[in-house]
Order: sequence, then structure tokens, then C-alpha cells
Amino acid sequence: MKIVTQIADWKNPEGARVGFVPTMGAFHEGHLDLMRRAREENDYVAVSIFVNPTQFGKNEDFNKYPRNLTRDAEMAASVGVDAIFAPEAAEMYPSTPTLIRVPEVTERWEGASRPGHFDGVATVVLKLFNIVRAHTAYFGQKDLQQCLVVRRMVQDLNVPIELRFCPTTREQDGLAMSSRNAYLSEEERKTAPRLGEVLRAIERGIANGSIKNEEIPETLSLGETSLRDAGFEVDYLALVELEELKATLDPKRPAALVVAAKLGRTRLIDNVILHGDRLNSPYTG
Ligand code: AMP
Repeated sequence: MKIVTQIADWKNPEGARVGFVPTMGAFHEGHLDLMRRAREENDYVAVSIFVNPTQFGKNEDFNKYPRNLTRDAEMAASVGVDAIFAPEAAEMYPSTPTLIRVPEVTERWEGASRPGHFDGVATVVLKLFNIVRAHTAYFGQKDLQQCLVVRRMVQDLNVPIELRFCPTTREQDGLAMSSRNAYLSEEERKTAPRLGEVLRAIERGIANGSIKNEEIPETLSLGETSLRDAGFEVDYLALVELEELKATLDPKRPAALVVAAKLGRTRLIDNVILHGDRLNSPYTG
């Protein structure tokens, strides 16, 4: 497996179908599942590891974000990755960067809580697409809003790449895997699965008809209360449609339940998509 740090040194094998998994490193099984899927569907698998400064807010965890290239490289090699692109920030941003701003879907939830975050994400993803020149890129539904931001950017800017949005990989107790789970204390780690449990309870209620559409606002506020009682500081818990992530009361449209909450100093997000795999169907605007 190759590790490339300079943009000018990146080269794909001629004629190969290239699958690409952009990441910030600190790998867990969620990352590896994206790489395995890319491995199944392509001749050559590229992974980028770049803790992108432009997507972190001033008071966020850029400095303490876990970095361990040696361990990550071993894990990537173990699932058959062919090449890692791991640039320094100065290689990616030699001067003040041109920014990509995706409208609408970026306005709410993570976009509202983390101003500028999605400009940083869209910009680095487009740069990485232009450097790696893959046929298909793989993203995790764990970061649902990020998936929709990337989808909208690719559509609006006619970026020649296919996108695959892959299901969230979870720990045995249901906690969505995340590099940030490493920040949790032992006590917080025990509480953390509550986040997904609340989502799944609401999902079940909607699916079996015990929660009627008009009862959804009350259900969401009860969900928030139960998370607060468990020790979370809730940022949002909402039912949203799947284009711009606007709040909806209609779970029959392609929709998802989304949540973000802090446990101590660690901010966790999770979601469940209602009615199966709607994200990978073509974008209809
Ligand atoms: P990150 O390194 O956190 O930027 O994540 C890199 C990619 O892995 C993104 O597309 C994430 O959505 C995806 N990812 C992170 N956690 C998970 C998970 N638990 N299951 C599936 N994909 C994930």
C-alpha cells in the first residue's frame, strides 16, 4: 500500500476503476466498512486521511482530534486499500482558500450549530475529488447532512463522480461508531447508546402507527426530555425530509430522524432513515 503526501505525486493506475473514501483518520469499523464496500466495487481503492482545519470551528476539537497514521495505514492495508493520500494542511491550503458554499441544506442542524462547517467540508471534498479523480466516492450515512451537502454540490457543479451513501456501522450496544467516542468517559460511554435508542423507539412508533403524525412534535419533545434526564445536553431532535433536511410532520415522505447532543464535552450525532435506503436514489431537486 502506497502513502502519498504530495498532490503532485498522486497517480491512479491506467484504466482502473477507482473507489475513494475521504476520511479524517482515527479509523474504526465504520471507516473500514466504507473501504470494504469500495474494495468490492472497484479495481483500485484510495483513502484520504486529512484532519481538515477549515471544517472545525474556533472552539472545536481540531487540536485534540485523534491522529495516528501508522495505525490507520495498517488498518486500511488489512482491508485491501491500495493507496492513502495524507497531505499536510500547508499542502492543501498554501494560501487563503476559495470556498464552496452549498445553499439551503447547510442552513440548519449541523450547519446552524457549526457555522462555516459545511463550507469547509464542501471545499475539501471537491479538492479531494479533483486530486484523487475517482469514479465513485463512499460516504457514511452517520453524517447524513454531509451526505446531502456533497450530493447537492456534485449535482450543482456537475462534478463527474458517482456517490454511495453507506449505512451507519454501530457498536454492539447500538452506539454509532465515531472517532469522537474515544473522548467519552466510562460513565458517559454507558449512557451514549440512549441517543440511538430514542431514535429507534420513535421510528418503531411511527412504523407501527402508535405515533400519529399530529403527535410527532410532542413525541420529539418527550424524546428530548428523556435524553436530558439521561444527562445529555440536546442540540436538536427532529423529523426531517431528505432533500434539504427541513423539519416535517410527514414521515411518509422520504424522511429521517436526526439528533445531536452533548454528553459532557463530547458532541454526538446520530440518525435513522425511515423507509429504507432513500439516499442513494437519484437526486430530483
Ligand atoms: P470522518 O473520518 O469522521 O470524517 O468520517 C469519514 C467517513 O466515514 C465519512 O463519510 C463518515 O460519514 C463515515 N463514517 C463515520 N462514522 C461512520 C459509521 N459509524 N458508519 C459508517 N460510516 C461512518
